[in-house]
Amino acid sequence: ALHLAKKNEQHFSFFDEQAKNLAQTHLDTYSQLSKAIKRNQFELYYQLQYNHKNEIFGAEALIRWIHPTQGILSPDKFISIAEKTGLIIPITTWVIKNACMQLNIWQKEPKSSSWIIAINISAKEFSQDDFVDIVKKYIHMYEIKANRLKLELTESILVKDIDLVISKMTKLREIGVQISLDDFGTGYSSLQYLRNLPLNQVKIDRVFVNNILNNKNDVAIVKSILLLAESLNLEVVAEGVETKEHYKFLIELGCKLFQGFYLAKPSKIEDIDALIN
Ligand code: C2E
Ligand code: MG
Ligand code: MG
Ligand code: MG
Repeated sequence: ALHLAKKNEQHFSFFDEQAKNLAQTHLDTYSQLSKAIKRNQFELYYQLQYNHKNEIFGAEALIRWIHPTQGILSPDKFISIAEKTGLIIPITTWVIKNACMQLNIWQKEPKSSSWIIAINISAKEFSQDDFVDIVKKYIHMYEIKANRLKLELTESILVKDIDLVISKMTKLREIGVQISLDDFGTGYSSLQYLRNLPLNQVKIDRVFVNNILNNKNDVAIVKSILLLAESLNLEVVAEGVETKEHYKFLIELGCKLFQGFYLAKPSKIEDIDALIN
């Protein structure tokens, strides 16, 4: 028994230690994240989006944290902590502002004047009372055509009051802002939700695209999303197009819009500008 107790003690202290470390990591990340906003350590990367004629129609803005010691951190490393701590709110404001600034620049260039920018909005941000006002504020400040701005929301917004979600979306659509449902097929959305939401677009999650060349079920899922979207008059973007074979096969299935490493990687704005000029 003593032996067991000892063992358990070790066990507990091991987990204690782990929990403490985890808490400490979160705390560190929190304090560093709050400084990161003031110190301007975020950067928007852009991943170009293409149609079936291989023309660029826009880009998704993807945040990166240029960390002073850890290098370039992707959103998976900090967005969930930002959401839990509320720091996602100032971060999103920063994202909206910078995307509008970039749209203002692209609007003036003939080559990019029709491009859209899609930004990711987390459920926590979307549920803020002043969310629509913040979007309006930066659209006006940078004099951008509202229909060039696309908000990517995930199905996680649907766990909240659905009528409120619809009324906010409607307000955004009324001023011209486009709305996309990101990571489609991985969340809770039912077809009934889909019918009732004022969406422009759904993005097929890359888990369905990954194995499309050798998994019949994934083909069936992608086909039915395309069919459903067509009858609901929604655009469809296939995410995670990693190879030429993916791209060709998706075109055969009737998909018209694409995003993925095969077409373009998320890049610094300088690299995109170099491509425009
Ligand atoms: P997402 O919105 O679904 O964005 C697509 C993610 O897939 C990006 O990862 C992109 O780099 C990656 N990706 C693109 N093409 C391919 C491909 O061909 N293969 C594979 N394997 N991956 C591909 P990233 O940039 O790490 O972003 C991850 C997630 O973080 C995003 O998923 C989005 O949910 C979130 N996120 C990014 N930026 C922001 C932001 O500004 N605000 C918020 N709230 N969330 C953001
Ligand atoms: Mg997205
Ligand atoms: Mg996605
Ligand atoms: Mg995602």
